Amino acid sequence: MKKRKITLILCVIAVALAVLLVAQASAGRLVVAVSPSGKCFHKPSCRTLKGSWTLVDKDDAIKQGYRPCKICKPDE
Ligand SMILES: [Zn+2]
Repeated sequence: MKKRKITLILCVIAVALAVLLVAQASAGRLVVAVSPSGKCFHKPSCRTLKGSWTLVDKDDAIKQGYRPCKICKPDE
């Protein structure tokens, strides 16, 4: 009976750790919107975004040469 309890506790800890890892991986990542014709990246809610735009990782947008929009300030 005691052994079973320990196994159960270990299972709970393993699940909690897995959830924590997933949460950490998705935290630090910011998704921004870029339009193919523009040179800036925006928050998806930015009022200057018109026409078609795609969501990309902020780090990828910077690597591709996009700059943060001065109106919606996606960097803050
Ligand atoms: Zn913007």
